[in-house]
Amino acid sequence: MKELLSHIRDVPDFPRPGIVFKDITPLLGNARALQRAVDAMTEPFANDGVTVVAGVEARGFLFAAPIALKLGCGVALLRKPGKLPFHTHRVEYELEYGKDAIEIHQDAVTRSDRVLLVDDVIATGGTIRAAAELVSGQGAKVIGLTFLIELGFLSGRSRLEGYRVHSVLAF
Ligand code: AMP
Repeated sequence: MKELLSHIRDVPDFPRPGIVFKDITPLLGNARALQRAVDAMTEPFANDGVTVVAGVEARGFLFAAPIALKLGCGVALLRKPGKLPFHTHRVEYELEYGKDAIEIHQDAVTRSDRVLLVDDVIATGGTIRAAAELVSGQGAKVIGLTFLIELGFLSGRSRLEGYRVHSVLAF
């Protein structure tokens, strides 16, 4: 995984002063690194009977689609409010300052689905926890959560007790 690290760029003070942004665009631009990242994010869940891969807007989509193809299933989209065209369910969650929300189409997952949730980065874990609530609220089973990068110092995992959490690179 050392090789993957060399394709992730730290951008200090983006999007706000004090945040070190993990820029994955060099990894996305390298076919071998992208393939290895997708393989490593998928591998622990290869034999879990996943039926839907749910990606979190926006960089989560870039991994959700190739992971779904590897697992032989389809993709569901978890998006910011107002972006999905059909009937949606929504979950609100707390940010450091204020609130945010995430939505899913009401017919994106069903009670019989076994769902793998995907995002590029887990930071505080707030977004993915809301995503997991949304999916389980529709009666589907959350099989696991997979990330390329985990910012361990923000303790996102501690908000995800009871879920199987996998990350490829931890900082
Ligand atoms: P959180 O809800 O705090 O876990 O934030 C997760 C979302 O914010 C993910 O969708 C990430 O893409 C993005 N994010 C948070 N912190 C960073 C960071 N330092 N570098 C890149 N993306 C980040």
